[in-house]
Amino acid sequence: MSDAILKNYINGEWRLSEASDRLAVYNPATADVLAEVPLSPGTEVDHATAAAAQAFTTWRRVPAVERVQPLFKLKSLLESHADEIARLITQECGKTLKESRGELQRAIENVEVACGIPTAMQGTFSEDIARGIDEFMIRQPLGVAAAIAPFNFPAMIPFWFLPYAIACGNTYLVKPSEKVPLTMQKIFELIDQAGFPPGVVNLVNGAKETVDAILQHPEIRAISFVGSSPVARYIYSQAAAHGKRVQCQGGAKNPIIVLPDADMDMTTRIAADSAFGCAGQRCLAASLAVTVGAAREPFTAAIAETAAHRITGNGLDAAVQMGPVITAQSRDRIEALIQQGADEGAKVLVDGRQPQIAGLEQGHFVKPTILQDVPPDGAIAHTEIFGPVLGLMHVETVEDAIALVNRSPWGNMACLFTSSGAAARKFRSEAEAGNIGINIGVAAPMAFFPFSGWKDSFFGDLHGQSHHAVEFFTQTKVVIERWPKEWSRQF
Ligand code: NAD
Repeated sequence: MSDAILKNYINGEWRLSEASDRLAVYNPATADVLAEVPLSPGTEVDHATAAAAQAFTTWRRVPAVERVQPLFKLKSLLESHADEIARLITQECGKTLKESRGELQRAIENVEVACGIPTAMQGTFSEDIARGIDEFMIRQPLGVAAAIAPFNFPAMIPFWFLPYAIACGNTYLVKPSEKVPLTMQKIFELIDQAGFPPGVVNLVNGAKETVDAILQHPEIRAISFVGSSPVARYIYSQAAAHGKRVQCQGGAKNPIIVLPDADMDMTTRIAADSAFGCAGQRCLAASLAVTVGAAREPFTAAIAETAAHRITGNGLDAAVQMGPVITAQSRDRIEALIQQGADEGAKVLVDGRQPQIAGLEQGHFVKPTILQDVPPDGAIAHTEIFGPVLGLMHVETVEDAIALVNRSPWGNMACLFTSSGAAARKFRSEAEAGNIGINIGVAAPMAFFPFSGWKDSFFGDLHGQSHHAVEFFTQTKVVIERWPKEWSRQF
């Protein structure tokens, strides 16, 4: 694809946006322009919402067992187009093909879980709460809902919400990141073939103006957001001010703790995959490694060696282990933060700035970087870098390590590497983060668990995925019925 102007998908049709502004979509490995994305005005959000509101009047009455049939079809379409979608993800987002396939698999797993909606949204029933009186609770859909997505998982993140929303009987709008809109464009071609009635699922491309129109639209009942914490706070407050149900997943600075009794080879391999996988642009990337006691020397030497030898390049190349970061601005920001870390007193043990990658001179690359002895009270200890940079810190006891984790304003993930069951149990109980890993580097919950996040990493109550998504996308109704008393007579 080149120079194509991307379209919106509204009421079951592809429509060219009337936006006066468009942005180029780049391949971050080459800086080639792949397409142009329209910054859709509020009127196009109005059109999509009107179509979704109209579709809701009938979709909500379609039995749940029928509503999931297009989702079964979509699962099979996503699987049969997996290679093509993975290539697109790699082209516009930069991650390796293996990472792109993994991401798509996570999206598909959410479709699978949402196909269980006939059971998952069942209500409860109490017979004879008093003689002749029954009481029950049913779950009903909300109406029109919307997702606003970040750049780093263009296929997976909308699927933390979309399949559950529509399976529950809502109708939906997706606003992808303007940096990576091609993946959803392709997935919506498959949604178009899956058999959803027109208006049930809609795609509106754009950026801030489009988002603000979603936030203010009176017919949009619920918003799911994933992105940086400053924007998450804004969405959370604006959506609430407009009376909407809202869940906002924000940024992170995830610590991993390495105890001396950890298997050092395994720990190093897993820590490197966590810190440098997806070029560090995962909200569950390890960004601080805290060694405890005698773990310091062996872990520091091993992670520095691994970081220095990670093969960086175009994610389409099968030999490449790490791709570029998303934009030139992002690369410059990451490099400036590395310098800030050095200025605060950290040692740049492995320096990935300004790499020369043959044939990819225009690409947005930062190689794996290690900052040693990051001062715990400096800004870099708490600033999300969102690039392939791992900070190292050191403490003497597991208690000190847990205290360090808990001083952080973030709470997306915390991991412990150990062979001690006692240390693992203490850590999982006391660490203040919503996703915990024990000898795991990216503690990403499966689709049948909620994607938890705490503190400044999450704003809201119910998370994406699983039964949390079912609760988020439904409202409960309690019914109390009185019947003739003799219908409850004991026999
Ligand atoms: P971002 O906040 O810049 O953008 C996210 C979305 O918000 C995009 O669709 C964008 O168009 C929109 N947006 C941006 N600025 C806006 C504004 N001022 N007003 C209204 N809308 C606006 O985030 P990003 O750079 O695309 O993604 C990276 C961030 O997402 C990182 O901070 C990362 O940690 C976070 N993230 C979090 C999770 C999680 O589960 N907690 C998952 C993935 C990514």
